[in-house]
Amino acid sequence: MDALPVKERSGLPYASQVVQENLEGQRFPVMHACGHDVHITSLIGTAQIMAAHKETWSGTLMLIAQPAEEWKDSGAAAMRAAGIWQRFGTPDFALGFHVAADIEAGKLFASRGAAYSAVDSLDIVVPGIGAHGASPHRGRDPIVIGAQIVLALQTIVAREVSPREPAVVTVGVFRAGNKRNVIGEEARLELTVRSDSGQTRTLLLAAIERIAVNIGRAGGLPESQLPYLEMKGGVPVTENNADLASQVLKAWADELGEDIIAVYEREGMGGEDFPFFTQDPVIPSVYFSVGGTSQARFAAFEAKGQSLPSHHSPLFQIEPRPAVISGVLGTVIALRSLMQNRAVEND
Ligand SMILES: [Zn+2]
Repeated sequence: MDALPVKERSGLPYASQVVQENLEGQRFPVMHACGHDVHITSLIGTAQIMAAHKETWSGTLMLIAQPAEEWKDSGAAAMRAAGIWQRFGTPDFALGFHVAADIEAGKLFASRGAAYSAVDSLDIVVPGIGAHGASPHRGRDPIVIGAQIVLALQTIVAREVSPREPAVVTVGVFRAGNKRNVIGEEARLELTVRSDSGQTRTLLLAAIERIAVNIGRAGGLPESQLPYLEMKGGVPVTENNADLASQVLKAWADELGEDIIAVYEREGMGGEDFPFFTQDPVIPSVYFSVGGTSQARFAAFEAKGQSLPSHHSPLFQIEPRPAVISGVLGTVIALRSLMQNRAVEND
């Protein structure tokens, strides 16, 4: 299961010492900085319990060990493209989980709506007309046009999206120019765009294109050389089925007590490639969260006035035992509840 090219600095006795080669042949120290070791361990634990207690459920259980959740080419999309449903059958529902460093270890959480956001990766290419830096009037400067685009993009979330609707437009990379006295022929902006609904996703992408093209026009670029978008892939919203989520939450509370359910609100707009499994055809699904940080660690960071290291940080760490136990329990209880009910319905 994929580790990340991050050198672990957690100080744990079992911290990763591994150095690995990527597909381009570059060597990097790697660590499980997102908790995928918890996920695969919990999947094995779930398999053991479900196999050992077949009398507690009925139906067909398909366990998916998906590779490449962190890679730019999604492992979930690759498994769909390889015909996983055609080869093994289409499930009636799907479950998945992610360990969460910002939830207390031993707790579980499931949203009744969007669990993770849609992510769109795209570039805005801004053509320029090259000239001497001392004679800017002879050209069209893609850096100045690009900079105006960056600022104008900020108005989309501020002025076009409803104030009660989450959305992010981040320009993470601005590449342009090779020499201080040369006006170049291109600027390239690399964006990540996040949304929690299909409607907002469409609005954001349309607004980005409209702003880029028209600021290019305002900057005097000819109609044949206006800025354009290059789409670099994306994932849809991870939308939990509300009824299924309610059923899972009730099963957890019935078996483990109400306290097992974390009081939690998403702070950012992270994405997941799980929806590649659950869209087209739509498979009702719940993607839940499993707490991974001890109360003591939360308290220690709060006392220092520091925020807890996030996923993908070199300081990321998860309490392995409670995280894996809750991962297995959360999954097994949810599966038994769902697979029991189906058996009753079929009688
Ligand atoms: Zn990750």
